[in-house]
Amino acid sequence: MTAAQGPRLRPTLDGIPTYKPGKPAGADAYKLSSNENPYEPLPGVLEAAVAAAGKLNRYPDMAGTELTAVLAERFGVPAEHIATGTGSVGVAQSLILATAGPGDEVVFAWRSFEAYPIITQVAGATPVPVPLTAGGDHDLDAMLAAVTERTRLIFVCNPNNPTGNVIHRAELERFLDAVPSDVLIVVDEAYIEFIRDPEVPNGVDLYRDRPNVCVLRTFSKAYGLAGMRVGFAIAHEPVANALRKTAVPFGVTQLAQDAAVASLRAEDALMVRVDALVEERTRVVTALRAQGWRIPDSQANFVWLELGERSQEFAAACAEAGVIVRPFPEGVRISIGEVEGNSIFLSVAEAFRKEL
Ligand SMILES: *Cc1c(COP(=O)(O)O)cnc(C)c1O
Repeated sequence: MTAAQGPRLRPTLDGIPTYKPGKPAGADAYKLSSNENPYEPLPGVLEAAVAAAGKLNRYPDMAGTELTAVLAERFGVPAEHIATGTGSVGVAQSLILATAGPGDEVVFAWRSFEAYPIITQVAGATPVPVPLTAGGDHDLDAMLAAVTERTRLIFVCNPNNPTGNVIHRAELERFLDAVPSDVLIVVDEAYIEFIRDPEVPNGVDLYRDRPNVCVLRTFSKAYGLAGMRVGFAIAHEPVANALRKTAVPFGVTQLAQDAAVASLRAEDALMVRVDALVEERTRVVTALRAQGWRIPDSQANFVWLELGERSQEFAAACAEAGVIVRPFPEGVRISIGEVEGNSIFLSVAEAFRKEL
């Protein structure tokens, strides 16, 4: 008798690392591991979500009509150019499903956002990671050189997660114009609201006269709705329409849609919070440099310590002190969170620095 066989799973899944979420913080630890917004929802946003919860027996508006209309007005684009999804990761997955399958390639910088290689392989396509420069920048020349006849999609993460580095306007425009026009370029701007460097372009300006450029945005970071799972793409109609076909039907709940609309209406209040986080980032970066760390000029809500093989050890020291941070093989990413949590991280960094 042969042993019972389990169901046959697609062999491509064997190569997929399981997505590792930021470690949940214990009750008394500060969670600086997932680039979340430390501020709880604004009262008006919470009320909108609670009101929507009263209709949980109904499916959400599948077209996201109101959210789409508000976004279209906010960004000065046609409603047909907007496609919403279950977080921008959900939208990114829909973009890959719309463009790439077995035999096709998806190019992205590495290290960059964890989800890129995973969602590429889920679609059966081949990830083509292109190493960052020594300074943590996208190597756009190398990415261009990595484009082949099989390339269907390129992710550009600006600012880059986890290094925080940005790509400036002239350099990005040169890249966009050099990529073949039948390859979709997705500019992932999950952290754009935290950028203070005036040389960084806004993807919405770049996509308008480039049919192969798609802007990816999220409500998870600056808008503080990570738990709601809502993000969106701005792209020309063929791409936006394709996203509506490949997205999970009814994926964005009514709670998420209504909370996102309320957030857009409360944008001024939310951006005051973003300003405070950017100030806190300046404090953290200044303190780290004073301690002797050489770190990239982060334009996002996190900082990056390139600790190499000591990354796990550093993360353990942080956890011991009550802050959860995010170690990678190349370094450690620390989100800008509550002031007290940031300060605890800084004291761990100072002690660690002294014995390096
Ligand atoms: C956090 C993050 C996102 C946002 O993901 P959501 O699914 O919208 O929560 C997208 N891209 C990058 C690079 C990120 O770091």
